[in-house]
Amino acid sequence: MDVTIFSTKAYDRRFLDGANAAAGEPHRLRYLEARLTHESAPLTQGAQAVCAFVNDVLDRPVLEVLAASGTRMVALRSAGFNNVDLPAAAELGIAGGRVPAYSPDAVAEHTVALILALNRKTHRAYARVREGNFALEGLLGFDLKGRTVGIVGTGKIGRAVARILAGFGCRVLAYDPMPSAELADFGAEAVGLDRLLAEADIVSLHCPLTPDTHHMIDRAALARMKRGVMLINTGRGALVDTAALIEGLKSGVIGDLGLDVYEEEGGLFFEDLSNQIIRDDVFSRLLTFPNVIVTGHQAFFTAEALAAIAATTIENLSCFETQGVPRHPVSVERLA
Ligand code: NAD
Repeated sequence: MDVTIFSTKAYDRRFLDGANAAAGEPHRLRYLEARLTHESAPLTQGAQAVCAFVNDVLDRPVLEVLAASGTRMVALRSAGFNNVDLPAAAELGIAGGRVPAYSPDAVAEHTVALILALNRKTHRAYARVREGNFALEGLLGFDLKGRTVGIVGTGKIGRAVARILAGFGCRVLAYDPMPSAELADFGAEAVGLDRLLAEADIVSLHCPLTPDTHHMIDRAALARMKRGVMLINTGRGALVDTAALIEGLKSGVIGDLGLDVYEEEGGLFFEDLSNQIIRDDVFSRLLTFPNVIVTGHQAFFTAEALAAIAATTIENLSCFETQGVPRHPVSVERLA
């Protein structure tokens, strides 16, 4: 098939070309650096399939442009599919495929990296030592052993985080409307969200972004948390109300904040903007806090994950071409 691939960097091309070659070059891949938006949608130029990433826009108007130019499938290079208007895709006869699991460990390990860095202030220590400042004042952390961690969403990533932190000797509380039996293997306790928020020293978010989970951590949720809580979000930006987080940081309710995702990250993340002015004042304010670490949606970014994303994407495209359905379909039913 002809496939137009949006939001690509050199690393995407390397891994996708490798996976396509390994499968015997079944597809003609056309790479675009541009994000898929209303403006760039016409660039698909009649490709039967479009391949998109997390910040590409796949709302009804974009899908209408794609359908009109002959696109019959959207292959997402991500697990999350919150950026796709699935009912519109179904109406327009566009199938969706995704990569349900590429490396939950990559995201889980990055989550734990944020926890460790925030706790032991590694980001500040690194800068201090390079300036010849070896003072310890301001770098005081706490032992993770014995602390209570609350994992919200215990799918593949949440379970991996729970397993790692159980290994540190943490007490693990987990909330998920569909709890996993596997959690008991490492002593995690399934609890309601209220109890998790009330008891956790560290809260980490691993549920998908849906209308139900949008801004699940807002002012009211913060009011139910322990003062000085560490909050980590490597899920999706809009799981948290960023304005409420800034208030929480200013009042000391949030003691540490680690974000790999941000609700307005489209147009910021994945780009080198070091010579430009950032116009998002909320984002800029976040960066001023010493107890905040933001990474630019890099939790997935390991060699293993990129290889798996590329292989599954090619497989989704090939299954759609030969059988009419992607290997890992995303559908309105799945959303329900
Ligand atoms: P998954 O489908 O295996 O697990 C998600 C879990 O969340 C499920 O068990 C589900 O029951 C649960 N859930 C649904 N609604 C919930 C709610 N209201 N409260 C609590 N739990 C709820 O998904 P996964 O592979 O573990 O990924 C989780 C999320 O992580 C993805 O949806 C994606 O948004 C995000 N993600 C981020 C990155 C990154 O690079 N930062 C990479 C991959 C995935």
